[in-house]
Amino acid sequence: MDGQSTKRVPLWRSLRVKYAITYLTLIAAVLVLLNTYPVRTSQQMVFQTKQVSLQSQAALMASALAGPDGLSAEGVARVMEVLGDTGLSRVLVTGASGEVLYDSDPAGNTLGKYILIVEVVQALRGEDFFRSDYTDGVFHSRSAAPVTYRGMTIGAVYAAEYDAEQGRLLVGLQQTLQRISAAVAVGALLLSLVFSSALTRRLGQLLAAFRTVREGEYSHRVKMSGRDEVSRLAGEFNELTGRLQTTEEVRRRFVSDASHELKTPLASIRLLTDSILQTENMDPGTVREFVGDIGEEAERLQRITEKLLTLTRLDAGAPHETVPVEVSRVARRVEHMLSPLARAGEIHLSLELEEGLFIEGSEDDLYQILFNLVENAIKYNLPGGQVTLRTRGEVDKVILSVEDTGVGIPEEDIGKVFDRFYRVDKARSRAAGGTGLGLSIVRDTVRRYGGTVEAQRREGEGTRFVVTFPRLDTGKEAGQA
Ligand code: ADP
Repeated sequence: MDGQSTKRVPLWRSLRVKYAITYLTLIAAVLVLLNTYPVRTSQQMVFQTKQVSLQSQAALMASALAGPDGLSAEGVARVMEVLGDTGLSRVLVTGASGEVLYDSDPAGNTLGKYILIVEVVQALRGEDFFRSDYTDGVFHSRSAAPVTYRGMTIGAVYAAEYDAEQGRLLVGLQQTLQRISAAVAVGALLLSLVFSSALTRRLGQLLAAFRTVREGEYSHRVKMSGRDEVSRLAGEFNELTGRLQTTEEVRRRFVSDASHELKTPLASIRLLTDSILQTENMDPGTVREFVGDIGEEAERLQRITEKLLTLTRLDAGAPHETVPVEVSRVARRVEHMLSPLARAGEIHLSLELEEGLFIEGSEDDLYQILFNLVENAIKYNLPGGQVTLRTRGEVDKVILSVEDTGVGIPEEDIGKVFDRFYRVDKARSRAAGGTGLGLSIVRDTVRRYGGTVEAQRREGEGTRFVVTFPRLDTGKEAGQA
């Protein structure tokens, strides 16, 4: 895992290369199409116009020659003269056996000779012929038509044309397309380089940030502009790192607070044992007193460690089974358990319960929550004070409140009392056997069952803790419980 993330990605596997290859392949495909399709189509169009014009010219000459005395050398010469300049590169007229009667190119030296080229042979068979090629920027087209008189083929007309003009246009088109393609290819290459290196740079930044945070530097954040997926990823990463940082800070504080809390009773125990050991002939009464103190400190250590264990279990979020729990039953158990403590502190503890309220949870956990709240209400109260535990049902929730007329919590501390080891009055808490963990356990347990807890300052004096749980639909569940 370690090696995997620190090694550089080989170039051929890198996103950058994959991205560039895809991009360039697409562009290449488009360019190949751009360089073939329009040229082919234009060529085809030229062939078609050539066919139409050349065939009609050949047919026109053939029909002009068809006549009773059409195919004598003089007759042909006369007709050709009348027809004037055809614009063709070569015109041949042959008799029925293929002997040349007229040649527009005197240098060809074909007059009187038999010319049995495929075009003429096909025309002498009575069929039209056309063929056109495009080579080296020139359109070379040939056409032949039979000369018929009274249903008989009496000769053939052969017409050829070299068209370099159209060829030039086509070559021009081809060159323009090639220039455009070259420009597009260079542009695409540059763009793909720019984009892919930007992408790699940003991903690299993100990877480096992952590494830094992995090394334990939780305060590190990635700065990334833009609103694309990579920026979103960076945002999520920063958020996650922020949470990690908070969790880490909480953990560190917890460990340091816990060690501190454990250190104090341990130091007292050391001091007391040292005194006993170092004082010779200590009178038995003092020894008893010291050993009693040691016992108290040990008890305190036990309380703290038990609560720490409870919190660790809650942190781990161990799987828990839930059952329908009847709230008033648990409230009565708590009152029963704590009324001696209330009596000892001259505090009046009363219940105001709505019957038939159920929540989904565990009876022990609900007991623990109410016990902690009511115990605090008694501990931080004054002689003659009042503590009231109320339960009330709403459509979809159950509200439990513990009210007291005690010392109260100052405004600035009210939000912090649920923090681990937080105590408003350390001395008082310590004297009452407090650990500063009770309310943290309450909050974590309440949350575990989807509830909320909040501390409120009461008008006048005292405090009110309000716990809300989702209400369990009664009926069936009530019957089972
Ligand atoms: P402790 O073990 O110290 O009681 P808790 O987590 O239960 O720890 O409570 C944290 C602190 O909140 C207490 O030390 C006390 O200062 C304050 N507190 C809790 N409940 C009350 C209350 N009902 N009235 C006044 N202060 C309270």
